[in-house]
Amino acid sequence: MLTCKQFLQELNDYLDPSIDPETKRHLESHVAACPNCFVVVDTTKKTIQVYKGMEPQSVPEDLKSRLLAAVERKIAAKKKAQASSDGPSAQA
Ligand SMILES: [Zn+2]
Repeated sequence: MLTCKQFLQELNDYLDPSIDPETKRHLESHVAACPNCFVVVDTTKKTIQVYKGMEPQSVPEDLKSRLLAAVERKIAAKKKAQASSDGPSAQA
């Protein structure tokens, strides 16, 4: 299972129509299980549609880092709520 951080790093690939099907399935399984990333994908798709027609480009770095920060805040809040369980330490 991917972490949200890993997923966001693959987000450009996920939205790339030429992604290989195996990778896409892998990423889709994360989106299906993770409401945070579902929202991220949804928002990003809509944002890219706005950018489309201006110039071909992938997810803007600025947007990506803002989404990543938002997701990390949510994860941190969730971790605080279930402080008793030891998760894998994936600190950057
Ligand atoms: Zn996620």
